[in-house]
Amino acid sequence: LERIRLEMDLRHAVERNEMCLHYQPIVSLTDGKLIGFEALLRWHHPKMGMIPPFRFIPIAEDSGLILPITIWILHESCRQLAEWQKIGPEYSDLVVSVNISGKHLTKDLLIDDVVGALQSSRVAARTLKLEITESTAMENAEHTIHILGRLKEIGVQLSIDDFGTGYSSLSVLHRLPFDTLKIDRSFVNRVGEHGEDSEVLQTVISLAKNLKMRVIAEGIETGPQLAVLQNLGCDYGQGYFLAKPKGREETE
Ligand code: C2E
Ligand code: MG
Ligand code: MG
Repeated sequence: LERIRLEMDLRHAVERNEMCLHYQPIVSLTDGKLIGFEALLRWHHPKMGMIPPFRFIPIAEDSGLILPITIWILHESCRQLAEWQKIGPEYSDLVVSVNISGKHLTKDLLIDDVVGALQSSRVAARTLKLEITESTAMENAEHTIHILGRLKEIGVQLSIDDFGTGYSSLSVLHRLPFDTLKIDRSFVNRVGEHGEDSEVLQTVISLAKNLKMRVIAEGIETGPQLAVLQNLGCDYGQGYFLAKPKGREETE
């Protein structure tokens, strides 16, 4: 019953202004510079309060509502990015990352949706990054290769999300035009107080480097985790230890 209720309410959530984006900083691990933000969707339900994404995104995907919601996210995050890039020359290359659902990736219309958001916000294509999870990318690999190729022609950046939680075919991985690889936070989390249990991190970082991709580590929660990643040559980081996702005003 709750699911039906949520699906019904989700239909009007965007137009009723119940959705908003939180932004989590992504920083360079070499010099600490702010590279950009990941846009994360938040739903303030009028009666049930804040509903976390893991509870409503699957419903949005099953019902097809993820498409109009993602179109709104693309427009809203690019509009916001355009504003932030104008704050000063040091922010003109700021990047925003948007999560793209597998349901959307199968549709050729995704290309038009991305172009539409770039045109109405007038941000440079290279400053928009799309995140696609490893399991989604591998699901229909030939189609993914095709659609990601078209997105690269537009000039947007592409990131493979939650890497290590799906099953990558290595023969497919090197044909996918990803610019960055995001290591899943479960591999970062297990690094202990004294930097132990970092073998998988080391392996994934060298895999990414060999495939000429930049590496982002997500879910950095402690100082020792950060130090290990810096020692291993990980390019970028994201996590509560650096900064939590925050609304527009606090982010500013
Ligand atoms: P994700 O894309 O892997 O996003 C990262 C998640 O990790 C976010 O959770 C973020 O708040 C959380 N996180 C960041 N740093 C830390 C940390 O140090 N420790 C821990 N434990 N967690 C950290 P959030 O916002 O709850 O989103 C969860 C998932 O929901 C996202 O995972 C993504 O798959 C999905 N999602 C969120 N927003 C969107 C969206 O706009 N579109 C789509 N399609 N999916 C979204
Ligand atoms: Mg993501
Ligand atoms: Mg992730």
